[in-house]
Amino acid sequence: MQLRNIAIIAHVDHGKTTLVDKLLQQSGAFRDNQRVAERVMDSGDIEKERGITILAKATSVVWKDTRINIVDTPGHADFGGEVERILNMVDGAIVLVDAAEGPMPQTKFVVSKALKMGLRPIVAINKVDRSDARPQEVINEVFDLFAALDATDEQLDFPILYGSGRSGWMAESPEGPQDQGMEPLFDLVLRHVPAPKIDAEAPFRMLGTILEANPFLGRIITGRIFSGTVRPNQSIKVLDHENNVLEQGRVSKILAFRGIERQPIEVGEAGDIVAIAGLSKGTVADTFAALEVTEALKAQPIDPPTVSMS
Ligand code: GDP
Repeated sequence: MQLRNIAIIAHVDHGKTTLVDKLLQQSGAFRDNQRVAERVMDSGDIEKERGITILAKATSVVWKDTRINIVDTPGHADFGGEVERILNMVDGAIVLVDAAEGPMPQTKFVVSKALKMGLRPIVAINKVDRSDARPQEVINEVFDLFAALDATDEQLDFPILYGSGRSGWMAESPEGPQDQGMEPLFDLVLRHVPAPKIDAEAPFRMLGTILEANPFLGRIITGRIFSGTVRPNQSIKVLDHENNVLEQGRVSKILAFRGIERQPIEVGEAGDIVAIAGLSKGTVADTFAALEVTEALKAQPIDPPTVSMS
């Protein structure tokens, strides 16, 4: 299956949760026994450990045979490079902006990181149903913000959609059409966001990005698989940022985001965002790697994605 990894960047209340709910519903990711109320982006099961606030969550939808992993980004605060690590998992971003409020200063930090990392955001102007909506002005404000943050010409030439997450539509014009639902947004993600660049032949490597304590599985670390594959029961090692081996251990479970749930999978593949259980020390900013990862490979940092259009 094809893969896309994207981040959603939005100021609080600009409609991120509502939008993701609609993406889940319209992509058919929901099963009958799953309720919208259990939406992932709003779940409270993320724990704190060693002072690292876990702000990012993820969900995934399938559109036209492509899995789209969607990660949440912290609103503004940054703890030791957390925003960068989260953006390191994705190849594209949706900057979601309230059509009345316009871009807020608090999102500047995350937007600036995304631009510096070479991402080419899609701009979605949300809540155009508001009586005080001023979508064209807001587009100009977004353009000015990107320009002030030294966006490249390519980044300034951002694709734009308008719509209402709550009413469940996005379109190329603030007037609609509304009857295509979220299809224009899904299609734009597939078209505009590059597939993850992967090295499927190289040994398994993943940069630890989100840490959780799960009551059943213990310590769970989430990240994007940079190269290779990983399977349950495989022995792997964890390297700290100076490439010292922190621990060696066995993967007990691999979970992938499937709609609002995480489900155990038999193989984690390069490019996908997965959660790994079974290690006892590895944490964010550590590298999780196959035992055969060599000195040479260790020295190769896991770089931010270099985004190229195919
Ligand atoms: P989040 O904080 O970004 O996750 O925002 P929410 O999705 O929780 O939405 C914040 C508020 O905006 C809620 O009261 C939503 O009902 C409302 N909202 C979301 N989407 C729309 C929209 O398209 N139009 C309008 N008018 N309100 C919306």
